[in-house]
Amino acid sequence: MKQDGQRWITKKMNKLIFVSGGVCSSLGKGVAASSLGALLEGRGLNVRMVKCDPYLNVDAGTMSPYQHGEVYVTDDGAETDLDLGNYARFTSGALSRINSITTGQVYETVIRKEREGRYLGRCVQVIPHITDEIKNRILAAAQEDPDTDVVIVEIGGTVGDIESVPFLEAARQLIHEAGRSNALSVHLTLIPEVAGGELKTKPTQHSVKAMQEQGIQPDILICRAPVILDEATRRKIALFTNVDPDAVFTSYDVDTTIYEIPLIFFEQKLDQVVLKKMGVESRHANLESWYTMMEKFQRRQGTVRIGIIGKYIDLHDAYQSVYEALFHGGLETGVAVELVKIDAGGLEESASLEGILGPATQEGGIHGILVPGGFGQRGTKGMVKAAAWARTHKIPYFGICLGMQIMVIDWGRNVLGWEDADSTEFNQSTKHPVISLLDEQVDVKNYGGTMRLGKSASLVEPGTRLFASYQARTIFERHRHRYEFSNSYRKAMTESGLCISALTPDRSLVEAVEWPDHPWGLGVQFHPEFTSKPTGASPLFRDFIAAVRDTALAQGQGL
Ligand code: GLN
Repeated sequence: MKQDGQRWITKKMNKLIFVSGGVCSSLGKGVAASSLGALLEGRGLNVRMVKCDPYLNVDAGTMSPYQHGEVYVTDDGAETDLDLGNYARFTSGALSRINSITTGQVYETVIRKEREGRYLGRCVQVIPHITDEIKNRILAAAQEDPDTDVVIVEIGGTVGDIESVPFLEAARQLIHEAGRSNALSVHLTLIPEVAGGELKTKPTQHSVKAMQEQGIQPDILICRAPVILDEATRRKIALFTNVDPDAVFTSYDVDTTIYEIPLIFFEQKLDQVVLKKMGVESRHANLESWYTMMEKFQRRQGTVRIGIIGKYIDLHDAYQSVYEALFHGGLETGVAVELVKIDAGGLEESASLEGILGPATQEGGIHGILVPGGFGQRGTKGMVKAAAWARTHKIPYFGICLGMQIMVIDWGRNVLGWEDADSTEFNQSTKHPVISLLDEQVDVKNYGGTMRLGKSASLVEPGTRLFASYQARTIFERHRHRYEFSNSYRKAMTESGLCISALTPDRSLVEAVEWPDHPWGLGVQFHPEFTSKPTGASPLFRDFIAAVRDTALAQGQGL
């Protein structure tokens, strides 16, 4: 965030801010940490975000989206916690595998070193060996880029959880070693409302006590509450917790969007208090992009309904980046986006899709269909039905990764007439494996090692919708998949009209397909949702929503 080549910071520093949570989970710690990051970037500081995840998985790649929400993929192909997606949407610092620390990684390293005899016969213990490894990883992220000014480290879980203890202990040691003005503790808690509308501060008092038992005195409290806390309540909390009254902030419930939270914190002067406590002088806040975003939000007119056909639709977190990117697309095109989550499995049994997918009217139906990424066969028959419906009824369709493969399967089955056309992921013995593993992958059995992961280039065909969106011949997006469009079907598919709109630069793999004679039917093998921001939507999400809006209006549907 250097402007005009100038450094805004008067003092070279590398500050640490630890964000922990108490009382209960799901208070929005990731959004709070990211919002603080956005505010500090607004002050011209270079911010890096780090997530510590107390689970024993080495990474999120093997976790079910049902259990843990989406797997967020970084440029360098790390499969990380979905909070890194929040960081990417709110802040602009680089994110890679170094920004995601799990208990699994920490133990894996320590145990490997122990097996290699690197502890020279000493007894290997949680303190200091596990905590040292955590500290090393946090400092490695802090020192990776010499221009980093502040590192915000979010500690997953809730204070009091057994799993979080080594991370809090590492934070305690780092705060002690760095000195109070170089390392801060921000603690997020809940202020519940009981019958009669009274706000209760006791859980917050207990939560801060739990932090103090870990040896950490929070410097700043962010209280999740239904409304902004008044002066008296803040004073009461301050009295019980040793926190300054002006360092007690409220993250109150918003009925606008989570992207307003940086501005809500700004109005309460969170950035000023943080900078003062760290002894940092900075430029005046520049939050123009966030105010512009809120203006766009307020100016939206009409609502488009997007049907998301997936197998994990019960859990919002499972497709978080996709849902956010749709919202960003709406901001950019001036419409609200209503998510209509449709279980793909349910569609398999429905005789007609008429009642579920459209046509859209004022009362119901949907204006556009999106099939997101996914693994495994369940629900894919329903997804193919939805794709065929969108294709034949001229409803805009956006296929992401699996959603693109579904377009190809539909084309094989319903245009080329190969009833058993399928991906070998779902049917190994199909006579028409239109999606399959590459030859060199077939014998690899170890999950995790065989995926195309992370950022890579695609070559876009001029004159296509994809080109119209990116306005570039070479684009870079992230991948996370194992199966590919089978090259032996390229000829039959294109001769029958399917457009291949992008390839890998060596032209060996298909990266995107489009339907001919259709308002907007596009599938991409990569994941554009991971790079979409509220202050700058992914071009594909922007153009999908624009096509949905224009098609609905052209068909005389009110929005
Ligand atoms: N299951 C498909 C594959 O592995 C698609 C993956 C995805 O959608 N992320 O190729």
